Amino acid sequence: MENKKELRGWLDAMELAHPLVIAGPCSAETEEQVLTIAHQLKDTDATVLRAGIWKPRTRPGNFEGVGALGLKWLQKAKQETGMMITTEVANAHHVDLALKHDVDILWIGARTTVSPFIVQEIADALQGTDKTVLVKNPVNPDLALWLGAVERFHSADVKNLGVIHRGFSTYEKTRYRNNPEWQIPIDLQNRFPDLPLILDPSHIAGRRDIIFDLCQTALDLNYDGLMVETHHDPDNAWSDAKQQIKPKTLDQMTVDLRIRKEEGDAIEFQNKLATARTKIDVVDHQLIEMLGKRMRISDEIGALKKKNNVAILQTKRWNEILGKMILQGEEQNLSEEFILKVFKAIHQESINHQKKVISE
Ligand code: PEP
Ligand code: MN
Repeated sequence: MENKKELRGWLDAMELAHPLVIAGPCSAETEEQVLTIAHQLKDTDATVLRAGIWKPRTRPGNFEGVGALGLKWLQKAKQETGMMITTEVANAHHVDLALKHDVDILWIGARTTVSPFIVQEIADALQGTDKTVLVKNPVNPDLALWLGAVERFHSADVKNLGVIHRGFSTYEKTRYRNNPEWQIPIDLQNRFPDLPLILDPSHIAGRRDIIFDLCQTALDLNYDGLMVETHHDPDNAWSDAKQQIKPKTLDQMTVDLRIRKEEGDAIEFQNKLATARTKIDVVDHQLIEMLGKRMRISDEIGALKKKNNVAILQTKRWNEILGKMILQGEEQNLSEEFILKVFKAIHQESINHQKKVISE
């Protein structure tokens, strides 16, 4: 991974738009569907058409893709519209078929990235290719595993490499289908600033209404591209219906998104400042979520205390918490004074919550 400039180079060498916009259906369903969507996308900012042919589904019984047949439809869409085409490959056989059908970009799905044996098999099948390979993050929030997959392709002499951030599984239900955990791609970007980073807002969101905001955050963080699931009739899509948007909506979205260009000292300063502020916003959002979570646990304790007729304030426990937090704060370069202020406020809010529960 040392030759970082080279990794980014393919984006410029292919004269691809910045940011790169990849769009198309979650799955190829019929020839007519693929061609309809491709023609509707042709005059938008999207330069690459996506469609899943082999669909990894969490549970059996759902639509698992049309298989190799769909590659012919993608190839036809490429001939008719001039768009580049991309699909997911999950084993060496898929790679073979995709290469035979002139697929320009191959992506590695989140469920594949978790498996070093499969990733190695795919990397071996792609040894020395001049095709572009985009590696989605693994389903679990593990940066090392994500980078490990990228490294396998790099070692197989795949020069046109990039990564796709599609969010991470969580057991707890949140507003996202897959939690963005922005700090992970931010870390990756800090370590490999020249590895193109693309956002897949569709699988993070799982719904249409927050796709725009996710894309804007990504652009504010200097992502290099977007991969958005797009369908001419989203509600009737055979997979991921809730998160797909119409080509027309995508077109409007790319008009409305703020895109920063890095040129000139003053502008560069503004860009850097804005990026840092977006990072702060991400962390602030996490702080609020964690505080909310803490108070909900506090409510549970309140209910327990009520049932067992125990007093709210437990001084011994409180002093233990403070002592531990002061020590942990030191590790993070946070002063004792600050930790005391923050935890007194948290404790007070906690007491208020429990009082409310007990008086109910
Ligand atoms: C997809 O892009 O349709 C897909 C299956 O994505 P992921 O691997 O991110 O779940
Ligand atoms: Mn999908």
